[in-house]
Amino acid sequence: MIVQKFGGTSVGDPDAIRRLIAIARATRAREGSGPAIVVSAMSGVTDALLAVAASAGSAQSDDAIARLRQLRDRHLAAAAALTTGERAAGVSAFLNTHFDELDAVARALGVLREVSSRTLDVIAASGEVLNSYLVAAALEEAGLPATWVDARRVIVTDAEHTRAVPLMRETVAALRASVTPLLEAGRVPVIGGFVGATLEGITTTLGRGGSDYSGAIVGAGVGAREIQIWTDVDGMLTADPRIVPSPRLVQQLSFAEASELAYFGAKVLHPSTILPAVERSIPVRIVNARNPDGEGTLIVTEPRRGAGIAALACKRDLTVVDITSSRMLMAYGFLRRLFEVFERFRTSVDVVTTSEVSVSVTVDDRRHLAAIEEALSEFAEVSVEPEMALLCAVGDELRSDASIAPRVLRVLEEVPLRMVSQAASRRNITVVLRQADLTSAMRRLHQEFFA
Ligand code: ADP
Ligand code: ASP
Ligand code: MG
Repeated sequence: MIVQKFGGTSVGDPDAIRRLIAIARATRAREGSGPAIVVSAMSGVTDALLAVAASAGSAQSDDAIARLRQLRDRHLAAAAALTTGERAAGVSAFLNTHFDELDAVARALGVLREVSSRTLDVIAASGEVLNSYLVAAALEEAGLPATWVDARRVIVTDAEHTRAVPLMRETVAALRASVTPLLEAGRVPVIGGFVGATLEGITTTLGRGGSDYSGAIVGAGVGAREIQIWTDVDGMLTADPRIVPSPRLVQQLSFAEASELAYFGAKVLHPSTILPAVERSIPVRIVNARNPDGEGTLIVTEPRRGAGIAALACKRDLTVVDITSSRMLMAYGFLRRLFEVFERFRTSVDVVTTSEVSVSVTVDDRRHLAAIEEALSEFAEVSVEPEMALLCAVGDELRSDASIAPRVLRVLEEVPLRMVSQAASRRNITVVLRQADLTSAMRRLHQEFFA
């Protein structure tokens, strides 16, 4: 059984959905059953829904309602292009009911002038809920025995809204109870990614890019032979194609390499995607929906051999926080106190380096930065530097080939580096630099290792 997840650009318009149908049909013919399909919202829809919530919450109801009108039209147009007759009427009715509800929510928010994270999830989840329903109908119209499965009934999560964590035991039980029987009956289940619900049935979302994670969870739950992430690039590339003009395709990666790359910014894969797959040793393949005959990138348990660095990744918009305390640093308990501050404000740190009198950390989420600065100032001097970026080279071979790390630093000789780190996994070497230097640094590294 194959589980196929299709990202936003691979379900963004009727032509993209027709490509999805062709891919699913070919897979079914080859495998004799399935596939199970997980879909994202149409491209741009999640961003648009978040903008709806922002407008509504700041009393700009007209703007919110206008945006919802555009979204409604886009979905209705896709439904009209992909379905006919009674099926078309059914899909339109489903879409219209849902958009009527969203209009009412937007008006209510305009009065309340406040958007809770719980409400935000209800709004953001709509993109996947609607599109999965639409894609299921389009598959049926094309003669495939598709059945829509409401993600809110099968992906069970905690109540950490906007970045909920799946409760795997409950989720696997729910998937086995409702998705596995469909597959056994020869059907093609279609599920919205990104979305879940708490045990009480309150809608949650898994964090931006979370549909990949949903795909992997479904794959684990139904015991898939392979989890496929269908996207708009040929696979994991040796660098972000928006920065390096012609990166190469990485044919194979270990789970460990892929999760480091995802965590450190290779956006093609949501960082949590690998977890459910690793636990059950299910291979993950990243494939291009516009080039379905390509092999893509295969992610498996075994490390690769003989390839040096597997790929580069980067993250922008980081803030470096320097915490200096000449009296305290060597004292035990200092680091605990320091990290407790970040914990209290639920802000995770990416890179950490220390010197005799200071600790530097990078943070991604700036929402609580002012409060964090204030709390740290009670026991240390704090300085904050915005517009920083992280650049990271990942490869299992960094562990065994001692020449790689110095080569990385030598190539970056002329770039001012703020932090350098190689953690215990020794699978990556990470530097933090000014965002303005990122592009040239990444291109230099790419030239050195992949040209
Ligand atoms: P989807 O909508 O399919 O989930 P995403 O936009 O989330 O697609 O991920 C695919 C994009 O990830 C690519 O279009 C590319 O711009 C970006 N990307 C960043 N780093 C990499 C990388 N190392 N390899 C491939 N793609 C990358
Ligand atoms: N639609 C969601 C997002 O844009 C989830 C996803 O596509 O993976 O973040
Ligand atoms: Mg994605």
